[in-house]
Amino acid sequence: MPIPAHSPFPTVAIVGGGPAGLMAAEAISQGNVRVDIYDAMPSMGRKLLMAGKGGLNITHAEAFDVFLTRYGARRAGIEPWLRDFPPDALREWVHGLGIATFVGTSNRVFPADMKAAPLLRAWLHRLRERGVGFHVRHRWHGWDARGDLRFTAPEGERTLHADALVLALGGGSWPQLGSDGTWVALLAQRGIEVAPLRPANCGFDIAWSHFFRERFTGEPVKSIATTFGDLHKQGECVITGHGIEGGPIYALSAALRDEIARHGQAVLHLDLLPDWPLQRVQKEVSHPRGSRSLSSHLQSRLGLKGVKAGLLREALNAEQMHDPALLARTIKSLPLHLMGTRPLSEAISTAGGVAFEALDERLMLARLPGVFCAGEMLDWEAPTGGYLLSACFASGLAAGKGALDWLQHGGQTPA
Ligand SMILES: Cc1cc2nc3c(=O)[nH]c(=O)nc-3n(C[C@H](O)[C@H](O)[C@H](O)COP(=O)(O)OP(=O)(O)OC[C@H]3O[C@@H](n4cnc5c(N)ncnc54)[C@H](O)[C@@H]3O)c2cc1C
Repeated sequence: MPIPAHSPFPTVAIVGGGPAGLMAAEAISQGNVRVDIYDAMPSMGRKLLMAGKGGLNITHAEAFDVFLTRYGARRAGIEPWLRDFPPDALREWVHGLGIATFVGTSNRVFPADMKAAPLLRAWLHRLRERGVGFHVRHRWHGWDARGDLRFTAPEGERTLHADALVLALGGGSWPQLGSDGTWVALLAQRGIEVAPLRPANCGFDIAWSHFFRERFTGEPVKSIATTFGDLHKQGECVITGHGIEGGPIYALSAALRDEIARHGQAVLHLDLLPDWPLQRVQKEVSHPRGSRSLSSHLQSRLGLKGVKAGLLREALNAEQMHDPALLARTIKSLPLHLMGTRPLSEAISTAGGVAFEALDERLMLARLPGVFCAGEMLDWEAPTGGYLLSACFASGLAAGKGALDWLQHGGQTPA
């Protein structure tokens, strides 16, 4: 039953209309509470919609124990939210919006049509029917001296009172979609510990030669494997004007980023022929080539041409290219010197954010009672594969339930 705007019920403001904020609204709208969502953008869920452009990978169907390991060092903090809203429950919830799902390759879960728009449309419709108020073009600027919320809105400055506040402001990647990380300063001013925002699932800078950059920018490098330390990933990456990106790069990006932060660079190894054992590569490379050029030899015996051949020439000089043992080793383990991460604005997601230590188990800020946080703005990271959205939805639910619980206890933290 919708609760009117001027009601005797407690009011909750949610700032941020992405997956985490909307899920908080869903939880809070089950109680006798007036809920309003505010977002700076002209519409809700812009990053969710963008995520749907390449196929909305909503969660992952692997065993739950394995699923939990994807959250690395933050597993212990995130596990309670995910136990309360595990991947199976998330899929059921999507079905409840009238959207079928399927398990795709490597156990990734997608909506039947791969898109986000029908899901978002159905969800917003359901929330509106439950009485949730939506306020777009409302940019939050923190609190005034009385503790009310400050916004700029189309009609100018607005201040609003709310009995509880859920912040679901996202990270700092793709700021053109709304989550620009400007909230960091607002919370830091209030003494909240926030780990610096850093790129996650990101590309890297490489000092390509002028020739290679001109010739191969935008080229996919298909069927390769990446290795860094004991981390491996197989797939396809893309050469960019600045360096390299793509799935098998993103998968190793947290470790590579941290290595660059420690040592100024990181060396990633590419296996250009992951299905070929080294001995076979050695045999083919050493095979007599008669009058044929090395390029046509590599092409005819190993299928190495185009961008893969170009990568070899980036790694080895002319003399080294004619050393069969070195050439074979380099085909199987080609070193790429990564000089830096691409900027946060280009990354798929964000590491860093509100420290878990600043939150209680309901995701309420200990220093700001009644203020809850959810989603990518918290200090965790995960690889692509549906893990990001899974934790955003689950944390939104946890924060929403937390806010309801807090209000039901009269806005007091139980002793
Ligand atoms: C290209 C791309 C593809 C992706 N694909 C996938 C995928 O397939 N699977 C997956 O799991 N994840 C994917 N992700 C990641 C996923 O989209 C995000 O992790 C998720 O959207 C984060 O949800 P959130 O609610 O925490 O934040 P967001 O979705 O970023 O929402 C935050 C909201 O807060 C609003 N906001 C911020 N600051 C203010 C302010 N001061 N005042 C008012 N409003 C404010 C923003 O406008 C925004 O609407 C992808 C990301 C990108 C960029």
